[in-house]
Amino acid sequence: MCGNLEEVIYRLINENNKVVRLAVLPFGALLTILFIISQILLFGRIPMAEREYDVTVIGGGPGGYVAAIRAAQLGMKVGLIEREKLGGVCLNWGCIPSKALLKSAELYNTMKKSQEFGITHTGLSYDFPKIITRSRGVADRVSKGVEYLMRKNKIETVFGTAKLTEKNSIEITKDGKVTDTIKTKILFLLPAADRALFQE
Ligand SMILES: Cc1cc2nc3c(=O)[nH]c(=O)nc-3n(C[C@H](O)[C@H](O)[C@H](O)COP(=O)(O)OP(=O)(O)OC[C@H]3O[C@@H](n4cnc5c(N)ncnc54)[C@H](O)[C@@H]3O)c2cc1C
Repeated sequence: MCGNLEEVIYRLINENNKVVRLAVLPFGALLTILFIISQILLFGRIPMAEREYDVTVIGGGPGGYVAAIRAAQLGMKVGLIEREKLGGVCLNWGCIPSKALLKSAELYNTMKKSQEFGITHTGLSYDFPKIITRSRGVADRVSKGVEYLMRKNKIETVFGTAKLTEKNSIEITKDGKVTDTIKTKILFLLPAADRALFQE
């Protein structure tokens, strides 16, 4: 019986290596899991990836995402770092949502003198929370559009706060923890005045 078993295992190993592969697979997975657990215990974080780009753009506002797209179109490997939402101030808080608010104000004003246009209505009021909700919805849609543009141009978006550590090296933190390090050949700083970029 034992002899038979040895013979079967011997045949399996020599004939198609299945046993070896079946044994190695879970062993490799186990080693990886043990490595990740040891890193979490030792350093309090999941081991971070070191990314490498030809061009790294810090800041996903109109300045940053346009620069990132152009660099990708020129054939470079591009990473874009953003600590909040793609689209920056313009798409999320400034230009776009403010124009959505202005549109509601404009419509309200037009409706006030609608009789001049031959349009009558009974009672005119506004719902401020609804106006805000619409404005936020427009901003979110446009920000998602930028996310799509990043994917389409094969730009890797890294969410977190960027800090320059040394020449051509950037550290990314999220919730106070370092999540990534980046090496880059070319660096664009779009929020150049942001102090977080240079803090010790
Ligand atoms: C109310 C309002 C209305 C406006 N209306 C108009 C308009 O109609 N037309 C117009 O042309 N302009 C308008 N502007 C101006 C416009 O918003 C700015 O010119 C534009 O956002 C600048 O783009 P930017 O990419 O240089 O910077 P930002 O839009 O400020 O983008 C910088 C990005 O970098 C990110 N960032 C900063 N520091 C870090 C870091 N350390 N790590 C990672 N990410 C970081 C920020 O989160 C941000 O998303 C308006 C502004 C406001 C406030």
